[in-house]
Amino acid sequence: MGRVTGEIEAPRAIVAGSIGILGGTFDPIHVGHLAIAEEVREALGLARVLFVPAPRPPHKPGVPLAPAEDRAAMVRLAIRGNPAFEASPVELDRPGPSFAADTVEVLAAHERAEGREPDLTFILSTEALAGLETWHDPERLLDACRLAVVPRAGRGAEGPGWLSERFPRARAVFLDGPDLAVSGTAIRRRVALGRSIRYLVPDAVIAYIADHGLYTEAALSSTASPRRIARS
Ligand code: ATP
Repeated sequence: MGRVTGEIEAPRAIVAGSIGILGGTFDPIHVGHLAIAEEVREALGLARVLFVPAPRPPHKPGVPLAPAEDRAAMVRLAIRGNPAFEASPVELDRPGPSFAADTVEVLAAHERAEGREPDLTFILSTEALAGLETWHDPERLLDACRLAVVPRAGRGAEGPGWLSERFPRARAVFLDGPDLAVSGTAIRRRVALGRSIRYLVPDAVIAYIADHGLYTEAALSSTASPRRIARS
């Protein structure tokens, strides 16, 4: 277990072949996601960060979500221009629930097939970490990768002690920042109310949301609009 403090230091040298994985619903992707990916990438010297949209997140059963193809399209728009960021279709291509343990194993197998020893870091917030015991086969996930845990404004205070008590074999790094109080829930609510989401979401994603009529009051409340709101 390690801790990276919020002191501003020079970036770590890039570790060839190292990969960060940020899974999520990205409904929509926002600056909170982008900032944690960039922070972990620099702090750990990751060569790449994969953004992995989940079509059917197991921890959000029955929650209405924008269609997976719209969420994935917004991810691609948001990361355009950062050569270290990539969108991964690994969960979109797989039927059934999107379990992180399966995703990481698929990515590890891909690395081995390419002749590389997998060097995988799964990025998640303290809020997500607090639910780790309820995840599908967390031990299998923890065997296949290390964790990079970032704070999430006021949600979940679980730290290295909490993790090692429950999962002694876990390899993890805890970061102090960035701590941006942005959420997909708040973005959707703002759009529905006609409020601005400028500077909370990349401009290209704002344009996509407007062009596709996502998150309007009608889209959020309508179950008769399956094209725009799919159920997981
Ligand atoms: P929603 O509000 O719809 O539940 P969300 O903003 O939490 O969405 P997800 O796609 O579910 O977004 O999040 C993916 C991962 O990114 C999770 O580990 C989540 O905790 C983390 N995350 C999202 N926003 C932030 C943020 N502002 N700061 C730190 N971590 C974040």
